[in-house]
Amino acid sequence: MRLTHWIDGQAREAASGRWIDVFDPATAQPYGQVAAGDARDVDAALAAAERAFPAWSRLPNSERARWMERLADAVEARLDDFAHAESRDGGKPLRLAREIEIPRAISNLRFFAHAATQFSSESHHGQAGLNYTLRQPLGIVGTISPWNLPLYLFTWKIAPALAAGNTVVAKPSEVTPHTATMLAQLAAEIGFPKGVLNIVHGLGPDVGEPLVLDPRTKAISFTGSTAVGKRIATLAAPLLKKVSLELGGKNPTLVFADSDWESQLDVIVRSAFQNSGQICLCGSRILVERRIYAEFRDAFVERALALRVGDPMDPDVDLGPLVSQAHFDKVMAAIGRAKVEGGQLRCGGNALKRPGWFIAPTVIDGLGPDCATNTDEIFGPVATLQHFENDDEAVDRANCGDYGLSASVWTRDLNRAHRVAARLRVGMVWINTWLMRDLRTPFGGMGQSGLGREGGLEAMRFFTDPRNVGIAL
Ligand code: NAD
Repeated sequence: MRLTHWIDGQAREAASGRWIDVFDPATAQPYGQVAAGDARDVDAALAAAERAFPAWSRLPNSERARWMERLADAVEARLDDFAHAESRDGGKPLRLAREIEIPRAISNLRFFAHAATQFSSESHHGQAGLNYTLRQPLGIVGTISPWNLPLYLFTWKIAPALAAGNTVVAKPSEVTPHTATMLAQLAAEIGFPKGVLNIVHGLGPDVGEPLVLDPRTKAISFTGSTAVGKRIATLAAPLLKKVSLELGGKNPTLVFADSDWESQLDVIVRSAFQNSGQICLCGSRILVERRIYAEFRDAFVERALALRVGDPMDPDVDLGPLVSQAHFDKVMAAIGRAKVEGGQLRCGGNALKRPGWFIAPTVIDGLGPDCATNTDEIFGPVATLQHFENDDEAVDRANCGDYGLSASVWTRDLNRAHRVAARLRVGMVWINTWLMRDLRTPFGGMGQSGLGREGGLEAMRFFTDPRNVGIAL
């Protein structure tokens, strides 16, 4: 299987003629290839997007919405194919792809189709006159997305960009390029206007950087690691280019003794291990009030041990492999470092004896809040446990480290929940739940977790330029 770019509504090989292997993480074998793009392909995609912009941006909002609805319907009609492709590409359980991630990708397209027709702007009446704000599309925007939720995060960016009237050059992760390619192919099949959505595959420095540097892209929406986010910020800053950066996390889960943790344990375990911990929102640092610590730890470890790890196509499997050899090595090195730091392995810590990049769910305790294991993102099936005495210590430990993406708080005390939520230095807090999504809410983090917010109005505002018009009355 060879996955090509999609530029101007057509499949296109890389100008270099080169390809990159795409691996099945469950076997560690290559199963296809993806075009190895470079600046020449980015240039062709930008030229197509530039040609398409005037007509697309002038379409009535309702027409743009109709196109996006059609695209959503087309994906839905092939949901199973998309789920299989996503599962094979990234090693995620088929069930997760079919029941959650692909449906959410479809919802992203539908939600922002509605947003196109419902987005409104402000007006300000004053003594001197009337001001109103026009919100106009930026032009061409670049999107760069990661491998962990491939179609879900890809659509999370392109949908608001298109809804707002921009044309897009999108760069999916070279590690999981399949479903983005399928989406582009479907778009062509339904006659989606050419050049509006272009996909260029390839390595970050070869494709992502030219996309960031080209003056034709008016904004870059990036999701990925903090290191690459900083690189993009460095490139974009002298150009004064608008950027949205959704980066890494090291999210705390705060479990208070007064919580209903026994009945919520499944969700807490899922929050640590879903998609083998390869979700930016996973709660990888579990902070537990000391009085229930031993009891909680034993129950948590028991559930972690009960998670079934194996072939992602097996409907009974909870966790699949990690996405790549490089990522597997990184997570194994982090487990090794935790041991060196004095951490105690309560379960897991080992690779599975089978082909593919499988790591057993791993629980570590006995480490303080400041060690690398508890401050650096691992992004694998690895959770640490720490204890705290009271609210202040819980908040201090939760706020330890430089990331600030999300947190979950587990308590039956409503006042405590609100008090603690207000003191956590993160962009998103869940109380007695995890990953409860409402596409209207601001999504993103602070500190090393990023800049800006996605979701709902925030995304529509990011992808438009406000122009104020003042009228004397
Ligand atoms: P990554 O930063 O390695 O890659 C992300 C994307 O950037 C890929 O498409 C990659 O090809 C591209 N890229 C790499 N180098 C580049 C460069 N120099 N210039 C431009 N583009 C470049 O991240 P990843 O390993 O694919 O994804 C995992 C990371 O993403 C984790 O850190 C995770 O926390 C983060 N993430 C964050 C969120 C969020 O919403 N905050 C969501 C999902 C994942």
